[in-house]
Amino acid sequence: MNSSERALWYSAIQEWNGVNVVNLSETSDYNNANIKITNVASNSDGVDANTVGISYIQRATTRNSAGFYAMKSAVIGILPEQAIKFNFDYAYTQFIAVHEMGHALGLAHSTDENDVMYPNEKDPYTQKITEADINTLKYLYNKQ
Ligand SMILES: [Zn+2]
Repeated sequence: MNSSERALWYSAIQEWNGVNVVNLSETSDYNNANIKITNVASNSDGVDANTVGISYIQRATTRNSAGFYAMKSAVIGILPEQAIKFNFDYAYTQFIAVHEMGHALGLAHSTDENDVMYPNEKDPYTQKITEADINTLKYLYNKQ
């Protein structure tokens, strides 16, 4: 991962930390990280011609205090060559990083196109983490 790709993910981490529900931090212990961020090859499982970001999620086998099967680990990533192919600018690619990080935190897709968890980007790019995204995150982490 090059420095601009790292900066993209740091920015996504800052956005999610900024809503004051989770506190994500970097570890040097990749193997034991809860969320692993990596570039994804275009021939990976689940990747089709239109895939730009991807998340592989593993959940706990028992419910947490909020009654949910909490996130155990996640591998998230962007396909750099796809972002180039679709001519995505930084804002688009950042939306994808924030969106995939949302999956890593346990969020599913939203049906509201303003939410960052809506499964497609708007054109022009306007999606941000919304109150709805934050409320779902609070609900999942029992921080209401
Ligand atoms: Zn998604």
